[in-house]
Amino acid sequence: MSFKDFGLLDEVVQGVEAMGYTDPTPIQLRAFPIILSGGDMMGSAQTGTGKTAAFALPILTKLKSRGATRCLVLEPTRELAAQVETAFRDYARFMDVTVGLVHGGVGFGKQRELLTEGVDVLVATPGRLLDFLGDGTARLGDIEFLVLDEVDRMLDMGFLPQVRRIVDSVPKKRQTMFFSATLPPELETMTKWLLKNPEAVEIGAQRMPADTVTHALYPVAKDQKFDLLVAMLERTKFDSAIIFTSTKIMADKVAHRLKDLKHSVAVLHSNRTQREREDALAGFKSGKYEVMVATDIAARGLDIAGVSHVINYDVPQHPEDYVHRIGRTGRALNVGDAFTIFTAEEMDHVRSIERFIGTSITRQKLEGFEYLYTTLFNESSIPAGGFGKGVRTLSGYSFGARRKRR
Ligand code: AMP
Repeated sequence: MSFKDFGLLDEVVQGVEAMGYTDPTPIQLRAFPIILSGGDMMGSAQTGTGKTAAFALPILTKLKSRGATRCLVLEPTRELAAQVETAFRDYARFMDVTVGLVHGGVGFGKQRELLTEGVDVLVATPGRLLDFLGDGTARLGDIEFLVLDEVDRMLDMGFLPQVRRIVDSVPKKRQTMFFSATLPPELETMTKWLLKNPEAVEIGAQRMPADTVTHALYPVAKDQKFDLLVAMLERTKFDSAIIFTSTKIMADKVAHRLKDLKHSVAVLHSNRTQREREDALAGFKSGKYEVMVATDIAARGLDIAGVSHVINYDVPQHPEDYVHRIGRTGRALNVGDAFTIFTAEEMDHVRSIERFIGTSITRQKLEGFEYLYTTLFNESSIPAGGFGKGVRTLSGYSFGARRKRR
């Protein structure tokens, strides 16, 4: 089926075709009829599945032309909000519909002007929107379409109280679309008061990384983690790579050391200013920076074309984050590679990821890299919990293939 076959507005079809897309993705095939017929929906889909267009195209079709603020989309992070706003604008380019963005980290002035002038589609993060609701600048009394995107992420970030307050300001008579990669118990109650007879759409096994991503684990001793990363970057033909770390401090540290080695590096984490975050993303997208070091703030939903490699410098502590992180590559129909560096201390996290995705991940050695220890390739020798506190990294254990660094 093509986009024309669903009863989407001609201008919307033109908009999506101008993006170069010819066939709807599976989640779009399922979502279009539900949303166009006025139903609530609860969606879970792998990242990079075309989720944004799945709700944007039917909503734009129903909006048709200018009016009051009739559609509100809530996103957990500024970057995601900006990305979804851009997508709406792209799809609406042949329509007379306005789209606006409201998020924290920047001045209030322009956003206040925007809200005063009025927009048809408002994409927002919860905190800043509440500020504007509090002082009366934002009015949500005309909302007909409410989209709550990446709701499990909002839960993780502690946004649920804000989301509830916002939803209370939106008319009860509306159409609600709810997207969440996972459905923790806290969200089940939320879906009950939020949605009316929702249709559930689940695309693919939500726990599995996309088929277009090849992923592997690279065991290494803690002392050699950074060396292995550098060797990977040297030996791999990559167009652009995202390196994930578990903490902001580690992101800065890795970025700093890579810069010392003359790599061009962008850094993205929540302690950076809005301007720095925007520069990092724009520079990475344009190819100015070959690598971007990021914390999980960048893992969810960000759509960065042409990411050929994802490297996990630290193993994610939550298994779902593994799927999200490696979902940054191999988006839509492109093929990507994801490497996860791990040390004995991270073995438990690796095991829980494998349990979560329901399969084991291939262990690989980097050809030509001089490993100090190779015992990690024989995991049966690693006790649960790694080598334990008080035991110096890998040294207190019996390591068969221990060699001296030359
Ligand atoms: P999303 O899951 O919404 O982040 O979308 C992932 C990527 O797929 C984005 O680059 C979209 O622009 C792109 N995309 C959306 N719909 C389609 C489609 N029907 N065919 C190919 N790519 C698409």
